[in-house]
Amino acid sequence: MPREVLPIDQTASPGHHRKKQHRTPAALNELVIALMSQMPEPATAYEIAATSEALGKSLSAMQVYRVLDRLIAEGRVRRIECLSAYVITECERPIFLVCKACRSIAELPGDTLMLELEDFASKLGFAESRPFIEAVGVCFDCTQRSAEGRQANGEAR
Ligand SMILES: [Zn+2]
Repeated sequence: MPREVLPIDQTASPGHHRKKQHRTPAALNELVIALMSQMPEPATAYEIAATSEALGKSLSAMQVYRVLDRLIAEGRVRRIECLSAYVITECERPIFLVCKACRSIAELPGDTLMLELEDFASKLGFAESRPFIEAVGVCFDCTQRSAEGRQANGEAR
């Protein structure tokens, strides 16, 4: 497997030794959760790896992907498919509203709707379905900004 090349912030801790430490899967899980909770979400695996490197904790994107797979299996993290990025979640069945302009997300618990979907899927004999919903649109802030832009340009509302 080729060594990954990451966009590393070389200004961070220039004298830091990047020796490979042995870390347990559980320790890596907690490291990734800690990194994500400090980053604007959703974050890509490469952004998580770069943030880790900048903080002097060596972590490759491949390691991040493996950790994210575990965290997704544990239900602690979700992948936002349309952004290829990840968020921490406490909802068992979250529904995400995704802004296509600024990539911000809003999360709501979708238990009622999602259970109906799961029920529907199982009635069809559709096995192992893990439905998720991402509603793509434009968030309130971006809607406001574009309305202000139109007004500034003298266009009628
Ligand atoms: Zn937005």
